Amino acid sequence: MSKEENLECSFCGRKKAETDLLIAGMDAHICDKCIEQAHGIVEEEISEAKTSDLSKDLTLKKPKEIKDFLDQYIIGQLETKRAMSVAVYNHYKRLLQSKDDKDDIEIEKSNIVLVGETGTGKTLVAKTIARMLNVPFAIVDATVLTQAGYVGEDVESILSKLLQAADYDVDKAQRGIIFIDEIDKIARKGDNPSITRDVSGEGVQQAMLKLLEGTVVNVAPKGGRKHPEQKFIEVDTKEILFIAGGAFSGIERHISKRLNMQAVGFGASLDDDKVDEENLLQYIIPSDLKAFGLIPEIIGRLPVLSYMNPLDAKTLRSILTEPKNAIIKQYSKLFTMDDVEFSIEEDALNYIVEKAVEYKLGARGLRSLCEAIFTDAMFDLPSSDDKQFNVTKEYAEAKLTNTTLKKLRAAS
Ligand code: ADP
Repeated sequence: MSKEENLECSFCGRKKAETDLLIAGMDAHICDKCIEQAHGIVEEEISEAKTSDLSKDLTLKKPKEIKDFLDQYIIGQLETKRAMSVAVYNHYKRLLQSKDDKDDIEIEKSNIVLVGETGTGKTLVAKTIARMLNVPFAIVDATVLTQAGYVGEDVESILSKLLQAADYDVDKAQRGIIFIDEIDKIARKGDNPSITRDVSGEGVQQAMLKLLEGTVVNVAPKGGRKHPEQKFIEVDTKEILFIAGGAFSGIERHISKRLNMQAVGFGASLDDDKVDEENLLQYIIPSDLKAFGLIPEIIGRLPVLSYMNPLDAKTLRSILTEPKNAIIKQYSKLFTMDDVEFSIEEDALNYIVEKAVEYKLGARGLRSLCEAIFTDAMFDLPSSDDKQFNVTKEYAEAKLTNTTLKKLRAAS
C-alpha cells in the first residue's frame, strides 16, 4: 500500500479510500463526514449560546423585585405597579420558556392597557419597566394611525421606531416594549357603525389587532448601519410586549352606569362596599372599554387592565423630591456642577405644589414651574461668586408672576 492510501481520518479512523475528501492539518487529518458532524455541533452550540444570551441580558426579576424597582421612580399607583410587575414577569417567563417544552401549554402574551388621565405616569411606568429589563423601548401615538388613513404603512412605522431603539438588532427589537399612547382615540364613536367609512375607528383597530396578536412586518431599515444591503427587515411582533395607555375621558359614565345596574340587580346587597364616586376608575373592567368603543378583539389582546389614580397634592409633593431622579434632585445636581450649594425650603416646595394644583398643571407642570423659578439663578450663578442658593417661598413667589402662571396653564 502506498503511503498516501495509508492516511486516515484522525477523528473517525476512516481510510482515505472510504472518504470523499480527507483534509490534512499539521499532524492530523479530517474527513468530510467528520467536518459535517462538527459543523452541526458548532451550529447547535451557537444557537444554545444565543438562547442563554437572552436570559443573560434580560434582567428578569421576580414581581416583588420589579415592583421595588418601580417604587424608586414612581410615586403611588400601587395597583398598577403590582399588575404590571406580574404581567411583565409572566411575559418574560414566556420568552424564556424552552422551545423544546413539549407539554403543549403555550403561555399567552400579557399585553397591558393602562387607563388614566394624562400626566398620571402611564408612559413613565412603561419606560421604567423597559429600563429595568434593559430592552428597547418605543413610544407611538395611536392617533397618528387615524390621520393617515392608510394603515399598512403606519403600522410599519411603529416597528421602525423600535428597531431604531434596538440599534437595528432585530432579535433585540423583537423582545422590546412598545407603548401605544392614546389608544382611546381610536375607539369607535357611537354605538352604531357609521355608513361612511370609519377611518378613525374600527379600521385602525383591526390593523392594531394584527400587531398585538403577532405578525411579521417588513420594515425599511432607514439608515440603520447593520443592514445596509437590505431593503426590508422582517420584524415579528409575536414576542413584543405592548403597553397601551389612554385617558378614556368619560369612561366613568359607563362604569357608573354598570355599577348602578349591578346595585339594583339580583343578589345586590345594600351593605356592599360603598362606591367611591370620586375615583370610579378603580372599578374598571374590560366591558367598560367595550362600552367606550374598543372592539372586543382588541380588548382580548390586552388582557391586563389597570388604572392610574389622579395625582393629589400629597402625591405631587412626593413627586417633586422622592423619586430616584426627582425634579428637585436634578436641579440640585445642575447647581452642584457649578459648585453652588442648592437648597429649597419646605414651604417653597408646598407653594410649587399649590400652584400646580390651582392651575391644574399636573405632574408635568411641576417641571415647568421649577424651570420658571430657577432660570434666573441658573443664568446668573455660574458666573458669580455666590456659591449658595437657598430658595424660600418668597423667592418662588417673586419668580412666578401671574403672567408666567397663565402661560404655563395655556401650554399644558
Ligand atoms: P402619561 O403617560 O400618563 O400622560 P407621563 O408618564 O408622561 O404621563 O407623566 C408625565 C411626567 O409626570 C413624568 O415624566 C413624571 O416626571 C411625572 N409623573 C407622573 N406621575 C408620576 C408618578 N406617579 N411618580 C413620579 N413621577 C410622575
